[in-house]
Amino acid sequence: MGWKRTESFVLRSIPLGETDRIVTLFSREGGKVRAVAKHARRSRKRFGGSLELLTRVQARYFEREGVELARLESCEILESSFDLLQSSLEAAYLLSYFAELAEAFSREREPEPTFFRLLNSCLAAARAGSEIPCLARYFEFWTLRLHGLLPDLQNCSRCARELRECHSIYPTQEKEMLCGRCAGAGNGDRIQLGKAEVMWIRRLHRVGPLEMCKNPGSVSRSAGLARYARREIEGYLERRLRSYRFLAGEGSYE
Ligand SMILES: [Zn+2]
Repeated sequence: MGWKRTESFVLRSIPLGETDRIVTLFSREGGKVRAVAKHARRSRKRFGGSLELLTRVQARYFEREGVELARLESCEILESSFDLLQSSLEAAYLLSYFAELAEAFSREREPEPTFFRLLNSCLAAARAGSEIPCLARYFEFWTLRLHGLLPDLQNCSRCARELRECHSIYPTQEKEMLCGRCAGAGNGDRIQLGKAEVMWIRRLHRVGPLEMCKNPGSVSRSAGLARYARREIEGYLERRLRSYRFLAGEGSYE
């Protein structure tokens, strides 16, 4: 409680009354924080362009015990995402998706430095021109992993057979990873991951987003990986993601 000064990402900024804004920050040292930015609507002097989506800022805010909203005193821009947002529609969708996931998974006033670094490194990789579908998958799978939602890929959850020997594996809704024998015939709706997709997930644990997504190859665009990540994320959050359908190009059909 009291004054805090910490590096943060702006995840969202919504108008509050005539003059103010409510800003959602994901801060390195304070986790997710919602704060009122006084006069941010009326005067651009105080906050300038610092409240744009996914700007990395040095934020100074005041928190009081038992009060939900902090008071944002100042935001000094460390790195803007504005050029990236403007570079293409696809990039803008990706940033909205990152922000929505970061907001959904970060915890109120609880620091998650690794999750913070993930967002930072994925944005850097996006600025460096990495492929967007690959970055979306990278961010999703690491988000799942950091929140304990990505099962171990070593052995089949039922028969303990080594999954690296399997031609395909089947992640179930119950967080099991099954070999073909244990999965049985199944229904048409189940998710199947081939060897290349499993290797992609394994590689993700060792390699940064730039290396993974600069020249990613076709595996990162696999429908199986996309469906699997989405099912786990939306299952955990118990809701659909607003920004996903734009990123996936489903925008005009829903
Ligand atoms: Zn098995």
